[in-house]
Amino acid sequence: MVKAQGVHKSFGAAHILKGIDLEVAPREVFCLIGPSGSGKSTFLRCINHLEQINAGRLYVDGELVGYRQKGDKLYELKAGEVALKRRDIGMVFQRFNLFPHMTAIENVMEAPVQVKGEAKAVARARAERLLDRVGLAGKAKNYPSQLSGGQQQRVAIARALAMEPKLMLFDEPTSALDPELVGDVLDVMRGLAEDGMTMIVVTHEMGFAREVGDALVFMDDGVVVESGHPRDVLTNPQHDRTKSFLSKVL
Ligand code: ATP
Ligand code: MG
Repeated sequence: MVKAQGVHKSFGAAHILKGIDLEVAPREVFCLIGPSGSGKSTFLRCINHLEQINAGRLYVDGELVGYRQKGDKLYELKAGEVALKRRDIGMVFQRFNLFPHMTAIENVMEAPVQVKGEAKAVARARAERLLDRVGLAGKAKNYPSQLSGGQQQRVAIARALAMEPKLMLFDEPTSALDPELVGDVLDVMRGLAEDGMTMIVVTHEMGFAREVGDALVFMDDGVVVESGHPRDVLTNPQHDRTKSFLSKVL
């Protein structure tokens, strides 16, 4: 579903991603861990067309990300083409980023109506189902300020799902939450995984990675240091850098 081949990304002189190679299979829960500043968010943003890579190739569902290839030459995508591709990818951030002036259900309906031109009744019916799925059927009319952080994050997940994405990206979705609210969000993610959603999850929740993850990558300083099955990497890390990182977070 996602394939990275020698992906590089720089911001000016700062070389952040230094040749990322990895592959995410369909229906896989792919966890990404690593120290602050190692490039995890940057990598997710590249997958979601929020940043343009400088070298290498990145594919989502067999299609090149950010560029169109003609013969040997690459051409940058136009804004409209990017917008079309981004529709198929859902992203959930550390901060919930809900529209504050809209209720929960309006937040979930917004993109299908505005971006896809879907009829409001259709969008509303789906939004009701999705709010139910994330355990918030009773909060449809609440504004974000009237929801807990964990509830807001679950609305954010429902909002991403409303576009019926083929891939979901999670960037530390529980790090901004009070500890007692983390479990409900992880439960929703676990449910998504059981339903077969392909997910890339940047997380510090090693329990989640171990129990739900199919693959785990440890990234440091813009490269993949170690990858494997979460249980193997977490219990038997091979590299010193992985060992040292895990000793701080486990
Ligand atoms: P964290 O665990 O703290 O979220 P991360 O692994 O997600 O860290 P990134 O956010 O990808 O790290 O950042 C990697 C590096 O890239 C950092 O040094 C950051 O300052 C730099 N960086 C990210 N975005 C930009 C940008 N738009 N312009 C310049 N530098 C950037
Ligand atoms: Mg980050």
